[in-house]
Amino acid sequence: MPLPVVSPRGIPIEDGPKFGGSAPVWAPPVGPARPRDLCTDCGISRSSDPGRCGAACQFIHPRYEVLETAVHGRPRDADRPDELHFGPHRRMLRARLASPLPGAQWTGITTRLGARLLQAKAVDAVLAVAPDPDDKWRPRPVLVTEPEGMVECRGMRMGYAPLLSLLEPARQQGWRRLAVIGIPCQIHALRALEAELGLDALYVIGTPCSDNTTTARFHEFLRLLSDRPEEIDYLEFRADYRVELRFSDGRQQEIPFLNLPISQLPPDFFPLTCRTCVDYTNVLADLTVGYMGGQGQQWLIVRNDRGESLLELLGDELVAETVGSGGQRKAHVKGFLKNLERAGDGLPLRRAPRWVRPLMSWLMPKIGPRGLEFARARVEMKALETVTHLRRSRPRRLRRMVPDHVWRLVADYGLTPAAEERAERRGRAKDRAASGGS
Ligand SMILES: Cc1cc2nc3c(=O)[nH]c(=O)nc-3n(C[C@H](O)[C@H](O)[C@H](O)COP(=O)(O)OP(=O)(O)OC[C@H]3O[C@@H](n4cnc5c(N)ncnc54)[C@H](O)[C@@H]3O)c2cc1C
Ligand code: SF4
Ligand code: SF4
Repeated sequence: MPLPVVSPRGIPIEDGPKFGGSAPVWAPPVGPARPRDLCTDCGISRSSDPGRCGAACQFIHPRYEVLETAVHGRPRDADRPDELHFGPHRRMLRARLASPLPGAQWTGITTRLGARLLQAKAVDAVLAVAPDPDDKWRPRPVLVTEPEGMVECRGMRMGYAPLLSLLEPARQQGWRRLAVIGIPCQIHALRALEAELGLDALYVIGTPCSDNTTTARFHEFLRLLSDRPEEIDYLEFRADYRVELRFSDGRQQEIPFLNLPISQLPPDFFPLTCRTCVDYTNVLADLTVGYMGGQGQQWLIVRNDRGESLLELLGDELVAETVGSGGQRKAHVKGFLKNLERAGDGLPLRRAPRWVRPLMSWLMPKIGPRGLEFARARVEMKALETVTHLRRSRPRRLRRMVPDHVWRLVADYGLTPAAEERAERRGRAKDRAASGGS
């Protein structure tokens, strides 16, 4: 017997298709996207006031320092351990659910948090993404109103979802207490507009994100990985330098990074947005749930009180321990920069001779950067990509898009800003005054 699709107040939801046929998950129709230059279609351009992109977008008006202060009470403090790399935080954990959720990307901490928030009636709805009914890899924004609906959102999908286009339908339902699960570019826009949303409560669970691309392009990648790409149900780039694939017949496959068919991908496989975005670890979330620093488990970055209260909801379900670190990143990051410079506008390829690849693939998880050192390496690589690609493709954007901390991250690798590339400090002071930040 299918569950009725109802709001927490018991109002039947009729003005949008029921998602998936049975679960209390609502996918109202979304409006058309407006054309923008650098854009990951977070949904704001599809809202009733698309002009808000100017204030919300991390590519148009990035305001990390100001928003960090508004959300966490202070901006990133480079003198505290690891804040230069991972943004403001209280603590980090290596963690897993004691009973992993089948079908989740890792153990399903994200899904369980959404379910617990709904169960505790702390929120009216969770805004997240579920697979599109016509393409399991295409993320489609949904509002989940009952705990059992969260399972529809399990797993990672490659692509851009206009997540924030559902903020208006949520408000029209009278829902003023929301949780949002999203990637960094979506969360920047959400935080930039938070004050005007007039919500009574907002919980933000963020995942890290890098190297995203359109779902259509991602299908090209799947076709290179397997002659039965339609049977691939799961893909993850793991911290042990392997990609894990799972197939619908239960088969699993691990492919060392060095053996990936990256050279066969077109140079523009990753859009300029994702090659130049500056927030890998979702610094404006209350809690970041990733894997990079987790050494085979999940990696939690608790950023503020609200992040702590989210973790409390999991109680004994969460098995957590101290994060670890090993290896040395510098030589790897330097090698990445060399490849990046050599690649021009293409993808940075590491072309080890074929016979060396099995040995390197065996060695990397043992001697390469591990745990937090792996995460630091990835953040530095992304910072190098940002500066290099903006210099090549949008030099006039550097001044606005690259915050000081990114220049600090790349300084060790010989990249320093020219006078015209430095952020506009006067503009930032004005922002601070406007947001009431200190
Ligand atoms: C495009 C992308 C790239 C990522 N890259 C990294 C990375 O480099 N390093 C890292 O540590 N972690 C990365 N992650 C996060 C990681 O893959 C897991 O999603 C995260 O660790 C949560 O695992 P879980 O088992 O708790 O998630 P689950 O319980 O399985 O829940 C997954 C959640 O992810 C959300 N989601 C799935 N696809 C998308 C999407 N396209 N857009 C927005 N939200 C989505 C869903 O709403 C769902 O709530 C990435 C995630 C995405 C979506
Ligand atoms: S990413 Fe979002 S805020 Fe930025 S231009 Fe696109 S729709 Fe607007
Ligand atoms: S890499 Fe950055 S810009 Fe691209 S989808 Fe992820 S958060 Fe957004």
